[in-house]
Amino acid sequence: MIKISPSPTLAIDAKVKELQKKGINIINLSLGEPDFPTPDYIKKSAILALKNDYTHYTQTQGILELRQVICEKLKKDNHILYYPSEIIVGVGTKQILYEAFQVLCNKNDEVLIPKPLWSTYVEQIKLAGGRPVFKLSNKTKIILINSPRNPDGNVLSLADIKEIAEIAIKNKIYIISDEIYEKIIYDKKHISIASLNEKIKNLTITINGFSKAYAMTGWRVGYAAGPRKIIETMSALQSQTTSNTCSISQYAALGALLGPQKDLIKMVKEFNKRRKYVCQKLSEIKSLSFTVPDGAFYIFIKINSKNSVKFCHDLLKIAKVAVVPGEAFLTPGYFRLSFATSLDNLTKGLERIKKFCD
Ligand code: PLP
Repeated sequence: MIKISPSPTLAIDAKVKELQKKGINIINLSLGEPDFPTPDYIKKSAILALKNDYTHYTQTQGILELRQVICEKLKKDNHILYYPSEIIVGVGTKQILYEAFQVLCNKNDEVLIPKPLWSTYVEQIKLAGGRPVFKLSNKTKIILINSPRNPDGNVLSLADIKEIAEIAIKNKIYIISDEIYEKIIYDKKHISIASLNEKIKNLTITINGFSKAYAMTGWRVGYAAGPRKIIETMSALQSQTTSNTCSISQYAALGALLGPQKDLIKMVKEFNKRRKYVCQKLSEIKSLSFTVPDGAFYIFIKINSKNSVKFCHDLLKIAKVAVVPGEAFLTPGYFRLSFATSLDNLTKGLERIKKFCD
């Protein structure tokens, strides 16, 4: 346990809050959550659940109505057929990922993750006794894909996904597909790997959650869909740890999927506006380079040095702008800028970054 690193993004957020408390004006571009409130219709579902006294333990895998609606969502949006028995709802995508690694990893099993990557995967794989690796080998047990990806907004193409599926089927490798940014996508289309064919579906755990698409980070609802035996084992683990996620949150999530999706569309439109603005402003800074993100609300920016921890430290100290160093994504020489904040904040932040870099 001593070897587990705490979440670097949460640590930066704590540092920012500490400086802000001292009255220092910090522009925080490190955030990993939408800056929008949870839509009203979702809050109303939660209030109704409270009024109806839905305040007790639920089934470990989650209330049946929610799992049924998740199945409908997966059929309609992702073209994958699952039964409610093949779904588990947990305390955020983070817990669901944790359970998936615990269930699938034996000691020293290799989990292949493309870089840059979200560091939680690495720590959770280590907790499960597995080994995070960055190259395919004959010990690879799982390939983890995350599209759109944190931290660079990369979206896998159909050709990429087909190739990964072929490798997985040929070598009997499991796929964990973290699709939490599925809805936050701009010019491209999201494709779920499990939708390709039955063979890859039988090897895949499709993971998603409500945090990003519905601005529900605090409610803690995530889910997995996959082969029944794996889901049942994840459920056994969950039954001995957190039991179910909060009953009220489950009804809120049910409301989120059943309700109108216009808040989501509005939010993504706003993110897209910001994305274009940030890319335009960043392209005016000579010492920085980046690839335009196709999804999520981050840009991963290359700097002129390998030591991005120092760059980010100085940026915070001198320019009073908080971003996340590439080291947090096992990719030094970069930093992650989040545009999940107002255009006003982005304008001020980018002015400060330009001045600092120039
Ligand atoms: N997966 C990725 C790639 C993320 O970036 C995050 C949060 O930042 C999560 C999962 C966790 O989401 P949740 O709030 O559902 O635990």
